[in-house]
Amino acid sequence: MAMVSMRQLLDEAAAGGYGVGAFNVNNMEQIQAIMEAARETSSPVIIQASRGARSYTNDRFLYHLMQAAVELYPEIPVALHQDHGNSPETCFSAIDQGFTSVMMDGSLLADGKSVSDFAYNVQVTREVVERAHAVGVTVEGELGTLGGIEDGVGSGEVHLTDPDQAVEFVEQTGIDALAVAIGTSHGAYKFSRKPDGEVLAMNLIQEIHEKLPTTHLVMHGSSSVPKELIDIINQYGGEIRQTWGVPVEEIQLGIRHGVRKINVDTDSRLAITGAIRKAMSDDPGEFDPRSYLKPARAAMQQVIAQRMTQFGQAGHAGDYEPRSLTEMRDFYAGAAA
Ligand SMILES: [Zn+2]
Repeated sequence: MAMVSMRQLLDEAAAGGYGVGAFNVNNMEQIQAIMEAARETSSPVIIQASRGARSYTNDRFLYHLMQAAVELYPEIPVALHQDHGNSPETCFSAIDQGFTSVMMDGSLLADGKSVSDFAYNVQVTREVVERAHAVGVTVEGELGTLGGIEDGVGSGEVHLTDPDQAVEFVEQTGIDALAVAIGTSHGAYKFSRKPDGEVLAMNLIQEIHEKLPTTHLVMHGSSSVPKELIDIINQYGGEIRQTWGVPVEEIQLGIRHGVRKINVDTDSRLAITGAIRKAMSDDPGEFDPRSYLKPARAAMQQVIAQRMTQFGQAGHAGDYEPRSLTEMRDFYAGAAA
């Protein structure tokens, strides 16, 4: 199966009433873990790379690893997405590198740190939509800002998404998917207590979905940060203080109200780190990298497969025929006419 556009994956998810996890990768083992989890659960999947990941893999390694994934897992529809593009140029270079979807995060200026204004956000996002849709590539935008900083991205300030402004933003930009700020943060330290309605504004999702029923909503910073994964890390010499992520039941509530893409990175990182620490501690005389990379890969696969089942994407890999980017281009051209 060729790579598909994210728009098709999300349209199918909306029709089927489920969510699709978007999992970040930096290397071969993470791509393998996700594809194995997708095969195990028969799930369509979004693989995403941050700017940091693209530079770590020098783009070309990522490109060819993804070609291998598509070749080895022909039954799995997979979209390759640029996470947090900081400028139109970043998004355009991703499209040149074979990404089938890009995020233009115009909620921040190109430095990835300073909060921008609405007019700037509309302008850069609209520019990306025009170029991306002309080649069938999907665009995600963001309105409002998340807390936390990850891979150097983030202002550290939280500005929740305003539902009326969201309507204006979607109308003026033509995006396919909208990342909403509802109080989640990037990174492992999301909440200092179990989140409730005061810190996690799930009601906003419901409100935005009512106003924008055909826009796919995206939850960022949506790792659940399971205590058992942190316990393994700390048991084997790590030092991660107590923290709370986004409870799976809150994500499932979001999925019932229009959330179609759920970004998960921290959970994978925790699973990998715990498995490596344990393997090294269990057998300190071992020095074959496979002795710790294999359990790391298996641990990530396990947490991803669990999320795929919880988000509802499991069992849906074979539901539809992939549409080519050319077909998607024609679809956008028809919608604009
Ligand atoms: Zn994000």
